[in-house]
Amino acid sequence: MENDQEELYQTVIANKYCIGCGVCAASEDSPFDMAFNEKGQYQPVMKERQAAEAYVGNLCATCPFSDQCRNETEIAASLFGGSAGITFNDYTGYYLNTYGAYVKGDAFREKGSSGGMGNWIAAKLLEDDLVDAIIHVKEAKDGSGRLFSYQVSTTVPELLDGAKSKYYPIELSAVIKQVMANPGRYAIFGIPCFIKSVRLLAEKNRIFDERIIFTIGLVCGHLKSDQFAKSIGWQMGIEPDKLTEIDFRQKIPGRKSSDYGVEVSGEVAGQAVTKTALTRDLYTTHWGDGLFKYTACDYCDDVLAETADVTIGDAWLPEYEKDSNGTNIVVVRNQIIQDVIDRHREELFLEALSMDKVYQSQAGGFRHRRQGLAYRLYLKDKKGEWRPQKRVQASADATAKRKKIYVKRMALVEESYRAYEAAVKAGDFQYFITYMNPILKDYQKVNDRPFVIRALGKVKRIFLDPLRK
Ligand SMILES: Cc1cc2nc3c(=O)[nH]c(=O)nc-3n(C[C@H](O)[C@H](O)[C@H](O)COP(=O)(O)OP(=O)(O)OC[C@H]3O[C@@H](n4cnc5c(N)ncnc54)[C@H](O)[C@@H]3O)c2cc1C
Ligand code: SF4
Ligand code: SF4
Repeated sequence: MENDQEELYQTVIANKYCIGCGVCAASEDSPFDMAFNEKGQYQPVMKERQAAEAYVGNLCATCPFSDQCRNETEIAASLFGGSAGITFNDYTGYYLNTYGAYVKGDAFREKGSSGGMGNWIAAKLLEDDLVDAIIHVKEAKDGSGRLFSYQVSTTVPELLDGAKSKYYPIELSAVIKQVMANPGRYAIFGIPCFIKSVRLLAEKNRIFDERIIFTIGLVCGHLKSDQFAKSIGWQMGIEPDKLTEIDFRQKIPGRKSSDYGVEVSGEVAGQAVTKTALTRDLYTTHWGDGLFKYTACDYCDDVLAETADVTIGDAWLPEYEKDSNGTNIVVVRNQIIQDVIDRHREELFLEALSMDKVYQSQAGGFRHRRQGLAYRLYLKDKKGEWRPQKRVQASADATAKRKKIYVKRMALVEESYRAYEAAVKAGDFQYFITYMNPILKDYQKVNDRPFVIRALGKVKRIFLDPLRK
């Protein structure tokens, strides 16, 4: 191809494999800026032509979906491969230890999505003077119209202010510029593909490499466009452009940890309102349906952030789920993080978890990104279309039923965006439901999930009494 930026555009971006991480837009002279597209996803857009043509760099080498970068196993092998006590597993990648865990006593678990281990580890890195700052995702509050963004916290209270999972588009370009301009020792949180981008950039940029001391990965099912957040608010009576805050993970005492709630704030008829509902009562929140997903996520094979020093997720296992306060799975790969955990062990509930249990806790995610990915790659190859090289090989070796599920899931994603556009045009969320009902019914029939016909009136009634037993 003509040049590097053209190659990145023609392969990853134009074919919808871009996850919007923002690394290709992180240098001042990059040909790209990050912007929301019509689906509410961050994507790179070409700056004006003159600047674009002047660029000399290697963008493909730092893009997690380009074929010009090393894969997760190769990156992790050079980071952790030779460490004492390290083991490799096809699902987890390299690991020293795996745990079921939560933070006892103080605010971390209460404020966290799950057991609070993510922010607790970050806090210990600050308190033990191993880093100066934590890069993570907090409420934007910058007038940009975005609800969340990557920001830098230097104290534990600031860190806790950014607790909980943000199922919302974020990107790294601005915060990378901040790191490059401000010397210091940083730890960074990220979903697996973002941590891969950070590792790739660190391979190419010595200053960035020296400043990013630790990476904290989050287990990832998939990333959502901002229409996911807006759809939740809209179902609960807040128009999309009036949604100002969302808490995706509210713990409900007495319920299973997986049976959590969501809280939205915004403006209705000029009045500030805050509303709460159980996610299972809402139309767009069933994670398996994958509504408002980035297409790139269907071509991802890293569930457990294999290139991160430590990975934190939800322990979706019956023995832990019964505790509404939440329990994490933790995969430790870096001995320094292991030492931090060992040093402060009395602050934690911590029990070793077998590899089988780690797998079980994310079984759906692994199936979608192993067998499901193999079939999606096979379909791409059959059509002769470009797609990124993955560690999973293309294969049609799944049952007819599973193949149907995978095909219908891809359609669900595309249809959710069309349905949302129709609802916006009509100014009525009921259009979304009417549009999606037959599509979801068809999918759920193949997937053996009972389908409940929904109407918005029903949804609205439900949120009024969210905590009913
Ligand atoms: C898009 C997404 C998909 C996920 N999918 C799964 C899944 O399928 N299975 C699973 O087990 N877990 C998944 N997780 C992780 C899970 O939701 C929790 O974040 C994790 O268990 C940590 O919980 P905690 O109690 O330790 O969180 P906390 O102690 O609250 O720490 C969370 C930290 O992560 C930061 N953070 C939040 N959102 C983001 C983000 N988008 N990018 C970078 N940093 C962020 C916060 O600022 C905070 O510092 C996902 C998370 C995200 C963001
Ligand atoms: S995935 Fe990241 S690096 Fe690759 S094109 Fe998209 S924004 Fe750029
Ligand atoms: S599923 Fe993969 S590509 Fe999608 S956000 Fe998660 S780590 Fe990134």
